[in-house]
Amino acid sequence: MVSRVIPVDDFDLVIFGGTGDLARRKILPGLFRRFRTGQMPADSRIIGAARSELDDAGFRDLVREAVEEFGGEEKSDTQMLDQFLERLHYIAIDATGEDGWAALRDLMRDGVVQAFYFSVAPSLFGDLAERLHDHGIATPDSRIVVEKPFGRDLASAQALNATLAEHFDERQIYRIDHYLGKETVQNLMAVRFGNVLFEPLWNSHYVDHVQITVAETVGVGGRGSYYDKSGAMRDMVQNHLMQLLCLIAMEPPSVFGANEVRDEKLKVIRALQPVESHHIVRGQYEADGESPSYRADVENQRSFTESFVAMKCHVSNWRWADTPFYLRTGKKLKGRASEIAVVFKDLGHKMFEGDTARHRNILAIRLQPNEGIDLQVTIKEPGPGGMRLIDVPLDMTFADALGEDAESATDAYERLIMDVIRGNQTLFMRGDEVEAAWAWTDPIIEGWEARNDVPKLYDQGSAGPEDSMMLMHRDGRRWREIKG
Ligand code: NAP
Repeated sequence: MVSRVIPVDDFDLVIFGGTGDLARRKILPGLFRRFRTGQMPADSRIIGAARSELDDAGFRDLVREAVEEFGGEEKSDTQMLDQFLERLHYIAIDATGEDGWAALRDLMRDGVVQAFYFSVAPSLFGDLAERLHDHGIATPDSRIVVEKPFGRDLASAQALNATLAEHFDERQIYRIDHYLGKETVQNLMAVRFGNVLFEPLWNSHYVDHVQITVAETVGVGGRGSYYDKSGAMRDMVQNHLMQLLCLIAMEPPSVFGANEVRDEKLKVIRALQPVESHHIVRGQYEADGESPSYRADVENQRSFTESFVAMKCHVSNWRWADTPFYLRTGKKLKGRASEIAVVFKDLGHKMFEGDTARHRNILAIRLQPNEGIDLQVTIKEPGPGGMRLIDVPLDMTFADALGEDAESATDAYERLIMDVIRGNQTLFMRGDEVEAAWAWTDPIIEGWEARNDVPKLYDQGSAGPEDSMMLMHRDGRRWREIKG
């Protein structure tokens, strides 16, 4: 199958923080992949900006090394890489100072899409927005891309939204949640709204419950001091898991348009009931031989921050009354696996003699590893001897079904950046969505802080604290195994 690459309009993309970790690991290798597919017009340019005193040649060396270290098989295409590097420029700018801005203004071209990626600490977002405006660089058509975290609570998110709104309209602001750029996540919408099979069953009459798991095998790595002030709830649930929940739970929008989709997601967030404290389990990983504990990793022996959280939520509307949504995420777990599972109800009546097992249809949407979708169906066990039933997956692993296309189409960042250039905000969070998500998570976090909630310890390489199993067992359900 040959993928169709639709070129975007000519653009100038400025990456503030162009020398940083995110730019080197994700943004720049991703842009090279887009360039190689022919999606980037020949004249388009990428301008790195940071405080380091580099020139164009120094930045190109840095990007070459980044592509060689973090790129995929495309990095061996040295001829294309040389051509890509020619599209790169660099300007030394301090977000909090006045130097460099005039040079940036002179470099920008009129008549092309102008986008500014804020790949710097959120404390600098306001400075960048203000200076882009004050130095006459941003136009009413410019776009800004804002990285996570977007605030650490409702008040800070509102303040950040207000700061950006001083200089940019909402239609110019692209708040990234890279989970929304994943191929499978978009496929979830295609499967749901593009097939007659699922939508009639997509409600509490047929869906027993939904499970969303984002499991990591890594610990906090070098982000210890940041993570310890954040925790799994702020770092993962408030954004990524809630976005996934929204896509599962939302009503079909009338058209697949940016505001229509985001209106429906917002309604879901607003319909989320407050979570009762006994419906949440927090955890922290313990030391395991040579591998240090969470507290040692973050160098805070008194830390009460969670590296794991599991919870049961309810969306209080007609469609989902009585269908719980179980969310779970954590570090140092037994596998690196992200999955949404829609678990359908049992059949009301068993007609096959001797069949006492519980057979359930499960639609599992795998974000990683092996992006794909499988539907568990019940069939007859092959062979003679009567009607014995077994459950088997109808598996659509994208790499198997789509071959090379699945590989080449994947990375979330590159897709989202191309959406920015196209001016398509569908897969970006709107300001009111982010605020509504914080309004829901704030009371949960405040409750923990008020009662000095102590996270349960869990073994590294496990599926989290025992209590998270109980969260399900109490309801006669169980978590799906974390594979990967
Ligand atoms: P980083 O490695 O610390 O890089 C920060 C970048 O900002 C560097 O290029 C730095 O270059 C530049 N910078 C710092 N102060 C500056 C200033 N005053 N003016 C202009 N440039 C300045 O951080 P990162 O990991 O790339 O993260 C960037 C943003 O992405 C953060 O908001 C982070 O939360 C978010 N994010 C990162 C990841 C990830 O995987 N890394 C994932 C999700 C979200 P100079 O020191 O040369 O100025």
